[in-house]
Amino acid sequence: MYYNSNTIIYFNGSFVKASEASTDLYGQSLHYGYAIFEGIKSYKTDEGTKIFKAKEHYDRLRRSAELMHMPFNYTSEELTALTYEVLEKNGFRDAYIRPLVFCSPNMSLSKGKESYLAIQAWEWTNGYMANKMRIMTSSFERPNPKAFKVEAKVSGHYVNSILACQEAKDAGYDEALVLDSNGNVAESSGANVFYEKDGKLYTPAKGSILPGITRATVLDICAQFEIPVEEKFFTPEEMRGADAAFFCGTAAEILALDSLDNVPFTKEWDTTLSATIQKAYQNLVVGKTLEEFKLQLG
Ligand code: PMP
Repeated sequence: MYYNSNTIIYFNGSFVKASEASTDLYGQSLHYGYAIFEGIKSYKTDEGTKIFKAKEHYDRLRRSAELMHMPFNYTSEELTALTYEVLEKNGFRDAYIRPLVFCSPNMSLSKGKESYLAIQAWEWTNGYMANKMRIMTSSFERPNPKAFKVEAKVSGHYVNSILACQEAKDAGYDEALVLDSNGNVAESSGANVFYEKDGKLYTPAKGSILPGITRATVLDICAQFEIPVEEKFFTPEEMRGADAAFFCGTAAEILALDSLDNVPFTKEWDTTLSATIQKAYQNLVVGKTLEEFKLQLG
């Protein structure tokens, strides 16, 4: 599904076949989850293939390395150029890109001494997550920010995401809404969340979330469209039964939610501000400006 015998990845200074790249079994990443990564998307646009928010993603990867004390010397510009090469060598346009940084073999609990970079990518069909999601409040909490650097995108954090997502699926839902250690809404297993009520949007304040690049883009769209939006801590009770809600993330884009704990969001999606934001985002990723989109809206 992710690669075949022709797929090329970037790995440690060269472009190699995915099927021929290998790693060491004595790494901290495999044993302890000590690795960092990004999830990025490229889109086919009128001006060729474009990586959306490449600088923001690679700046975050570099920041994650710093927070995890991993030596990592690539600049965001170098990383972006390498990624375009991976896309070109595979002939990918709409693609999901997964850069991963992990460290040399070390079974101790001291910081990494040398890091390895892999840039993998696979083709992506946009629009397949079009169905509105039924979500449930998870029994799992997001990692306590005093125990982890939650703003870093670290492999080990995703064990929490797997537990929350699987719990929701086993209970017959599509996804989990995970709370922070104070009982406030944090995020999903792999996306941020917004809800809409009486013409205003709300999203959890930073603290226990991965501050997403899509979340920041939504805040930008709100500013440009003069849509009132507030970052604050709120409980699932406040969110249940709101007018509308959505998940947002690089993979999810803007994904409408159907219900929380079987309580439906009440407004018809197409009539919500959230739907306008969804359309604006779909325009941005393929290189259209918000001004062009505003003109379309009339
Ligand atoms: N929260 C979590 C836990 C995630 O894994 C992601 C996806 N990277 C997000 C939020 C959204 O982040 P972004 O918009 O930068 O993809």
